[in-house]
Amino acid sequence: ALPNLPILEAIASHDPETTAVVHSSTGRRFTYGELLRDIVLAKDRLNASTKEGGLKGKAVGFIAERSYNYVVTLLSILANQSIAVPLAATFPATELRHLLDECQASTLLLRSQKDSHEVLKACEDGLASERLEIVSVEDFAEKSQSSPGLKDIKWKDAAEAEGGIMLFTSGTTSRPKGVLLSQPVLTSQSQSLVLAWKYAREDHLLHILPLHHIHGILNTLLAPLFVGARVEFMGIFNSTAVWERLASPYLPTIDGKINREERITFLTAVPTIYSHLLSRYPELPSVVRPAAKEAVSPKNLRLNISGSAALPTQIKSSWKELSSGNVLLERYGMTEVGMALSCGLDFKDRVDGAVGWPLPSVEARLVDVDSGEVIEPGEEFHKNGNEREGEIQLRGPTIFKGYWRNPKATEESFVEAQDGKGKWFKTGDVAIRKPVREAGESEQEWAKGPMYFIKGRKSVDIIKTGGEKVSALEVERELLSMYVPLKNSASSTLISLARPQFVEAAVVGLPSVTFGQIVAAVVVLNSSYKQQTGYAKSRAEIRGFLKGKLARHQIPQKIKVVDKSLPRNAMGKVTVNKKVIIEAYFPEQ
Ligand code: ATP
Ligand code: MG
Repeated sequence: ALPNLPILEAIASHDPETTAVVHSSTGRRFTYGELLRDIVLAKDRLNASTKEGGLKGKAVGFIAERSYNYVVTLLSILANQSIAVPLAATFPATELRHLLDECQASTLLLRSQKDSHEVLKACEDGLASERLEIVSVEDFAEKSQSSPGLKDIKWKDAAEAEGGIMLFTSGTTSRPKGVLLSQPVLTSQSQSLVLAWKYAREDHLLHILPLHHIHGILNTLLAPLFVGARVEFMGIFNSTAVWERLASPYLPTIDGKINREERITFLTAVPTIYSHLLSRYPELPSVVRPAAKEAVSPKNLRLNISGSAALPTQIKSSWKELSSGNVLLERYGMTEVGMALSCGLDFKDRVDGAVGWPLPSVEARLVDVDSGEVIEPGEEFHKNGNEREGEIQLRGPTIFKGYWRNPKATEESFVEAQDGKGKWFKTGDVAIRKPVREAGESEQEWAKGPMYFIKGRKSVDIIKTGGEKVSALEVERELLSMYVPLKNSASSTLISLARPQFVEAAVVGLPSVTFGQIVAAVVVLNSSYKQQTGYAKSRAEIRGFLKGKLARHQIPQKIKVVDKSLPRNAMGKVTVNKKVIIEAYFPEQ
């Protein structure tokens, strides 16, 4: 019997004949009926093949590629009311060992023999191996297509649902922290997104994100499965392959028909991915380019989302131009809370630099960084007209309960609510709020009031220089907006489509006797186009570019131009502690 968890009930309620999952590489499809059947099978196997005592409530790590197998494995662990811990095969051995130890996994599920071999080797020393059982799981994607679906399913009450998904934060500010998202939290997070972004059965999502971070699990897998949409998995990210896939239904065929069913309607990614796609577009074969352009136009790609890191303005405007008007929707989220703030479905609700409003079920407030006062609506500005910066704090059913085995971090991250209604989670991110248009203009109930604009992390991104506050994130956004115009491009219609001059930027505050702190920047040159003319080569030229965009006190006094990449995580997000940047690039400090 299956516990009546909302996600499983939703899957069971969809037409068993409709497609749930597609593999891009082979075109292989899996229906909702097959998915449900395989979840039941996998759940039974999981219990049969592991030690006595059952795995209910226990952590089960698993490594699976971006595929149907991943979906079956994840959901069968949830169905077993265990804690699913998705891990990446690309983790270095020490990291894998650390995470397995952290989550106290009793079982690790692996698919191929090759994986098991390598992981076993990695785990050989250090890990309490007598505690960890390693189990190979069946390849569900390889099963015969004709095996029957389930006739009827037995449900049992899961009133006190245990288990959930454990994810690790990206480790940008310190070591990754374990976050347990319980069943009810996952359900609230998914339903909030479904409401806001109107996921529909007709949607066909292209999944190109890692599956061990919240973005790839919640936005691109759970939410679509809730509504009965299709999720199509692509293999290792490759921008040419993504373009070709997007374009394929629009390429001329012998009979002149297009296959509507294959159209991608929903794409969510991180800014780096959009940047790669933009850079690659002009190099596509000339026959693919118009089809690719058509594929991402607003009438075909109904929703196009960016998040996980700040979206540079140039990427947003170039994408809009390339797609004939598709304005990227920016949203803000984190491992601990899923998605929290989002711009609206209406294009005019996607203001540059804004992350929008609290999503349905999410309550948000700003707490003044200096005074500790709550910035009530209408109090967003100081008397002198300056914006008041505040830490974003969140409350509601989508928020996690605490860090895994880390009571100290949990204690520091929550503050009791004055009104007695639970606790506020302190995100550590600083924002301002600004009214951007008349109230009541949006059709979406939740998309109203002043909008949130992220300034950066409280601990490292707010630099105080000569009495002024500088948001590192805003300066980084402008540095990443420096583009080299394309010369002799085949796509002469796309004038502003260009290559980023810098692929990465990190802005930090260095101690200064005179100013308190000074602004300094490290930028990584886009090495593939270094030969191209048009680069701002000297620091003076970089400052010249910034002059038109930023106030004087925001312009970095020190700039280091380097070739070597800053560390990034699987999401393509620069995840480096700013303190480490200072030590590495400005050791004189
Ligand atoms: P750690 O918590 O271990 O230091 P992390 O905070 O980077 O790492 P994640 O949970 O993956 O780990 O990332 C969440 C953070 O990403 C947010 O707190 C915020 O700083 C940043 N972020 C997410 N979306 C946006 C956005 N649209 N604009 C700016 N920053 C964003
Ligand atoms: Mg964090």
